[in-house]
Amino acid sequence: MRSKLVVGNWKMNGSRPANTELLAALLAARPLTGPGGDVAVCVPFVYLGETAAQLAASDIRWGAQDVSQHAEGAYTGEVSAAMLQECGCRYAIVGHSERRAYHGESDELVAAKAQAALGRGITPIVCVGETLEQRDAGQTEAVVKRQLSAVIHTLAHCAAEMVVAYEPVWAIGTGRTATPEQAQAVHAVLRAQLQAATGHAARMRIVYGGSVKADNAKALFAMPDIDGGLIGGASLKAADFIAICRAAG
Ligand code: PEP
Repeated sequence: MRSKLVVGNWKMNGSRPANTELLAALLAARPLTGPGGDVAVCVPFVYLGETAAQLAASDIRWGAQDVSQHAEGAYTGEVSAAMLQECGCRYAIVGHSERRAYHGESDELVAAKAQAALGRGITPIVCVGETLEQRDAGQTEAVVKRQLSAVIHTLAHCAAEMVVAYEPVWAIGTGRTATPEQAQAVHAVLRAQLQAATGHAARMRIVYGGSVKADNAKALFAMPDIDGGLIGGASLKAADFIAICRAAG
């Protein structure tokens, strides 16, 4: 019913030579996942054109790490969904915890960004996740439900078109991964919420992110409600990312 999706989030890393080499290694290793599986890389805005050119003839997709909620105009430094569409983006990450933390992005802003992406046919990958303090205080479920609910409310009948990424903040870039059982428990909560809102949760992808590595990916992806991964650090090393994609096979 659902196939896996593995997305690399390069964050603010890369250079022209390094990107060319990394993408060439991914291209050479195809097929990266089993039948129906999808692989994508979300790269810094300035590399979208070159990424598109290198991946155009392949089944590897590309996307951005953010998008403006505005359509166009006097918003210095912003990049619109229409521009991402022109670059052939399939995906746009919205609400990554680094943007929520360092750029003060609210649930409502994240929802507006998801809506802007969908309006241009770009699938938003909506990140939700609790901090360690919130988990320790027993607030995990309430936090992720609140974050997702803002997006569901804004997208309304289009909500079933998004991808959700559960990314516990305490697991991102820390080397500390949620156990498959911990992640599954939250994914099940999110799927129930999506089902109540859309009626289509059985076909929606909910991916996990937070220190996914080649050696823990298989156990995470084997859980019934984990439909793949959003991969940060390990997506910068071809061998690691390829191994993670294969684990989704
Ligand atoms: C991320 O940036 O979305 C992420 C999950 O990072 P890492 O895999 O490095 O924890």
